Amino acid sequence: MQAKFLTSVEVQSLQERLSLYEKQIEALKKRVICTRKDQEALRVRGRARMIELLGDPDSENFKANKRRGFSMLWSEYRQWFKPIRSYRDTLEKDYDAGIKFIEEWIPSVQQAISLSCCPLCQQQPGMTEIDDLKLCRSCAKIINEGR
Ligand SMILES: [Zn+2]
Repeated sequence: MQAKFLTSVEVQSLQERLSLYEKQIEALKKRVICTRKDQEALRVRGRARMIELLGDPDSENFKANKRRGFSMLWSEYRQWFKPIRSYRDTLEKDYDAGIKFIEEWIPSVQQAISLSCCPLCQQQPGMTEIDDLKLCRSCAKIINEGR
């Protein structure tokens, strides 16, 4: 059997259709919202990040500050991925960036103080009081060693 070769007109017509499909797919990607499973993963990551910042979910600090903390986190998230009204509206194409945003989210110094996060590293719960500031264990240790 002999292979049938496409004429240059046929090739050109295929190329045109292909590039049309590519444009349509690109346009769709800007509209497709991530799956339920991804939305749940974003929520779980957000909670894990809040536990890093505020401490154990059973702790007083977590209970007292979680509402404000989540509101700060998700409001900055929505600003970053504008225009979305909830993290659940994250586009599929932005999912990885969304996870990264949450994992790397650091409250401002002011936010950290109002949330009782360590204002020095803004990475861990402030558990140890030094000079009216609540610092995390690692930062408190460094300050104490310097004295
Ligand atoms: Zn610290």
